[in-house]
Amino acid sequence: MVVDDMPANIEVIYALLAPDYEVIFATSGEEALELAAVTRPDLILLDVIMPSMNGHEVCRRFKADQVTQHIPIIFVTAMGAADNEEMGLKLGAIDYIVKPYSPAVVKARIANHLELKRHRDFLDSLASIDGLTGISNRRHFDECLRRELRRAIRARSTLSLIMIDIDHFKEYNDYYGHLAGDDCLKTIAHELVLAPRRPADMVFRYGGEEFVCLLPDTHGAGALELTNRLLGQVRTLAIPHVASESQVITLSLGICTVTPTLDSQSEDVIALADKALYRAKELGRNRVEVAP
Ligand code: GH3
Ligand code: MG
Ligand code: MG
Repeated sequence: MVVDDMPANIEVIYALLAPDYEVIFATSGEEALELAAVTRPDLILLDVIMPSMNGHEVCRRFKADQVTQHIPIIFVTAMGAADNEEMGLKLGAIDYIVKPYSPAVVKARIANHLELKRHRDFLDSLASIDGLTGISNRRHFDECLRRELRRAIRARSTLSLIMIDIDHFKEYNDYYGHLAGDDCLKTIAHELVLAPRRPADMVFRYGGEEFVCLLPDTHGAGALELTNRLLGQVRTLAIPHVASESQVITLSLGICTVTPTLDSQSEDVIALADKALYRAKELGRNRVEVAP
């Protein structure tokens, strides 16, 4: 994203970058803040001297906002003095390009910064993935649940959470060995991610042999339907487990459906689903229970 109040400057950079990149632009700081929050560009080229809001202030605001704080910013300016450059870098800019610049050098620097950004995005994505099963992990779940609760509060919508626990999994490990246990976890995880039908639905490994589904905009009936589908799919898999009463791997599930209010905490939602799951275990496993 190129931010400059002078269309002529934007045109020059556009001509330089458009053959290789998707370039968007804003002609004021205010427009830049709005546009970046929606489009999440990979890199921002930011002019310093602009009427109404200058580049330093725009940079400060980008860095203060969780949504945009990790987008790399490069100042592009005629203010070449060392203290100007120091100021820009201290504000969190990743680089500083002084006009007049060499187009080839600017292009090379931008390519380097985009490469770093790609690498960083990749590492970020790894941090959200469970190493064994390849599905989203607990850390990502905590983030998503907090975000979805906030969204549901704003939209006054209902969300459902399904806690899932494999039955008698300790005995499975004891009987078949830990490697077979790992394979079983992978199989179940892949079955679980196949089940949801809506794009917003998310499945995570919560820890050990426990999984969780987060279903935005979903009422109890929808969650129950998904749960029954899950139970059916796992029944169809029929993974042998001779040390359990049903002779195959089964799941116990607990559903919690909430229309959150401002004082709703993610811990409370999890605790409710957990309690329902616990009841499913007590009532004989291989079943679903719904939190009141
Ligand atoms: P319940 O029916 O009450 O849920 O009993 P359970 O045996 O499934 O539950 P418990 O919590 O007693 O044991 C969970 C077991 O899951 C213990 C542990 O050996 C196994 N487990 C947890 N994480 C992993 C893993 O990454 N790989 C393997 N192979 N086993 C795991
Ligand atoms: Mg467990
Ligand atoms: Mg278990």
